[in-house]
Amino acid sequence: MEFWLDLNDEQRELREWVHGFAASVIRPAASEWDEREETPWPVLQEAAKIGLYGFEFLANTWSDGSGLSLPIANEELFWGDGGIGMAISGTSLAVAAIFGSGTSDQLLEWVPQCFGDAADPKVGAFCSTEPEAGSDVAAMRTRAVYHEATDEWVISGQKAYATNGGIANVHVVTASVDPSLGSRGQAAFVVPPGTKGLAGTRKLKKLGLRASHTADVFLDDVRVPGSCLLGGKEALDKRLARAREGQRRSGQAAMRTFELSRPAVGAQALGIARAAYEYALEYAKTRVQFGRPIIENQAVAFALADMRTEIDAARLLVWRAAWMGRNEKPFEAGEGSMSKLKAGEVAVAVTEKAVQILGGAGYLREHPVERMYRDAKIYTIFEGTSEIQRLVIARAVSGVQIR
Ligand SMILES: Cc1cc2nc3c(=O)[nH]c(=O)nc-3n(C[C@H](O)[C@H](O)[C@H](O)COP(=O)(O)OP(=O)(O)OC[C@H]3O[C@@H](n4cnc5c(N)ncnc54)[C@H](O)[C@@H]3O)c2cc1C
Repeated sequence: MEFWLDLNDEQRELREWVHGFAASVIRPAASEWDEREETPWPVLQEAAKIGLYGFEFLANTWSDGSGLSLPIANEELFWGDGGIGMAISGTSLAVAAIFGSGTSDQLLEWVPQCFGDAADPKVGAFCSTEPEAGSDVAAMRTRAVYHEATDEWVISGQKAYATNGGIANVHVVTASVDPSLGSRGQAAFVVPPGTKGLAGTRKLKKLGLRASHTADVFLDDVRVPGSCLLGGKEALDKRLARAREGQRRSGQAAMRTFELSRPAVGAQALGIARAAYEYALEYAKTRVQFGRPIIENQAVAFALADMRTEIDAARLLVWRAAWMGRNEKPFEAGEGSMSKLKAGEVAVAVTEKAVQILGGAGYLREHPVERMYRDAKIYTIFEGTSEIQRLVIARAVSGVQIR
C-alpha cells in the first residue's frame, strides 16, 4: 500500500483557481462587507459566474475520491475572508442536509433551488438550533404534525442563529415528529420558496463573520406538502417504529453524519488561520524596532514557528478526516471531531498571536488580522462547540457515556 501526501494535478489546479478568486475578488471586498454587515450578493454573483458557487461545484469536489477537494477549496476561500467565505459556503449546510437525508429526486428538485443560477444566485439555510436546543439537540421544541387528509406537514416553532435564515430561497428545517423519542423522533423538511408562515425576524449582529447573514427564524403553522419530508414518509415511519421498539441506531452510524461535515468546517478555520499567519510573517519581516526587524527576536520568530506548526498539524487532521469520510472508513476515535476541534482552536490561537505580532497595528481595522481574529472565534462555537467535539472524541475512545 502506497502512502503519499502530494496533491494531484486537479487538486493543485483547484487550489490555484480558488486562491486566485479569493485573492482578486474576495480579499479586496472583505473589509467593506464586514463593515456593512450584509450578504455580499455581487461577490456571490461573481462566484456563481465562474462556477465556484453552485451545485456543479459541490458535485465536482465530491467526485474527488480522496475527499480532499472540498477542504482544499474551503481553505482558500476562507483565506480570502471568513465572512464572505461563509456567505458563499452557508448554502452548503442546507445542501448537506438534503444530501444526507433526502432521496435522489429531492436532491434534484431542491439543491438547484438552493443556489439559483449565475444571473440570480440564491442561498439556502439549515435551521436546526433553537433558543432552548443548542448543543442539546434532543431538546428541540419545533413540532411537525402530519395531516393525512391533505398530505401536508404543519410545522411550528422557533429556530435560532440560522445562517441565511429568512433570506434563503430554500430553508431546511428540523422538527420533532415524536417528542417522546428525543433526537430519534426528529426529521428534516424542505420549506419551499415563498411558503407562508416562515419568517426570518431578527438579523443578528455578530462579533465576526459579518458578511454572513444570521437570523432567528419563526415558523407559524407552516404548511408543506408531504413530499417535503426529506427521505419520505415510508422511511420515517420505519425509523420511528425501530426507535419505538427500542432498537438503538449504532453509535457509529449516528455519529457519522456529523463527522462527515466536520473536516470541511475545520478547513474554513484553517484558511483564516493561514491568512493571519502569512500577514503576521510579512509584517514581522518589515517592522523595525530596536534597529532590526522584529522577526529577528526569537520571541517573535518562535511564535511564528508555532503558528505554522499548528496550522500544518491541523491541516493533516482535516485531510485525514476528509479522506476517511470519502472512503467510508469508520470514525472510531471521532476523527472528524478531532479535525474540527483542532482547526478551530488553532484558528483562535493563531489569529490572536497575529494580532500580538502586529502590536497596536493589529488592533486596528486598517489591518485584516483584527477581522480574522473576530472571525476565527466562531470555529470553537458553531457546528458543535469545542466541548461537544471533546465529548464525541472522549466517548469514542473510551466507550464510556461521558457527560
Ligand atoms: C454565526 C453563527 C452561525 C450559526 N449558524 C447556524 C445554522 O446555520 N444552523 C443552525 O442550526 N445553527 C447555527 N448556529 C448555532 C450553533 O450551531 C450553536 O450556537 C452551537 O451549536 C452552540 O449552541 P448554543 O449556542 O445553544 O450553546 P449551548 O449549547 O448553550 O452551550 C453553551 C456552553 O456550554 C457548553 N456545553 C453545553 N453542553 C455541554 C456539555 N454536555 N458538556 C460540556 N460543555 C457543554 C458549550 O460547549 C458552550 O461552551 C450558528 C451560530 C452562530 C453563532
